[in-house]
Amino acid sequence: MRKELLELTGALKGHIVAVREPGRGISGLYLKGDLRARSLPPIDSVPDNKATHVRSETLDDIRAELGDCTRCKLYSGRHHIVFGEGDPHADLVFVGEAPGGDEDRQGRPFVGRAGKLLSDIITAMGFTREQVYICNILKCRPPQNRNPEPDEIAACEPFLVKQLRAIRPRMICALGKFAAQTLLKTDTPISVLRGRFHSYHDIRLMPTYHPAYLLRNPGAKKQTWEDVQMIMKELR
Ligand code: SF4
Repeated sequence: MRKELLELTGALKGHIVAVREPGRGISGLYLKGDLRARSLPPIDSVPDNKATHVRSETLDDIRAELGDCTRCKLYSGRHHIVFGEGDPHADLVFVGEAPGGDEDRQGRPFVGRAGKLLSDIITAMGFTREQVYICNILKCRPPQNRNPEPDEIAACEPFLVKQLRAIRPRMICALGKFAAQTLLKTDTPISVLRGRFHSYHDIRLMPTYHPAYLLRNPGAKKQTWEDVQMIMKELR
């Protein structure tokens, strides 16, 4: 009975999320753990820990400020901080969850098997990796690739916000459940979030499946391709 109730609640929540889209009749509903009804402020208004700005921070400034970071416990197990790479003025930024083993060893984002698939997706979109920006919510690898923990996100996400403020992309593609749910502050399943645009500090955000998930579930590539086609249409 309890299981049935949980399933029913999940299905109802998914339905409400779907019909709450603009022009579909329901607006202003707030679901627990879902901040999309409360829109995040524009990225320029997010408080910064610097008292004054003589000029906008560049990615190099932000990397220098991050330094040899020990702001959360993940510092102790890392080989390299994976800050992010690509065009500092990219229209499109891909945000994943956290570095894996290959990324930790090389200090670069998305360089393993999943990274190869992401590179293929970027190429199919008509871009090179150098023309977009690729980063993660966390810049250090969690042990055994476990999920990021709230204190780690709290310590590291401000640097992602700064990066996005410096880049000023037109579009973010959130790769996978964890990136999408963390950025959108929601527990809505990725299968419900994907396929339509959301807002992250006034930047359009499209969630889609993580390349590692696509390697395990190649049948989902079709949906990811639909998502990236929507991004391409929007960026034209
Ligand atoms: S994950 Fe982020 S906050 Fe934590 S140590 Fe690494 S760079 Fe610092």
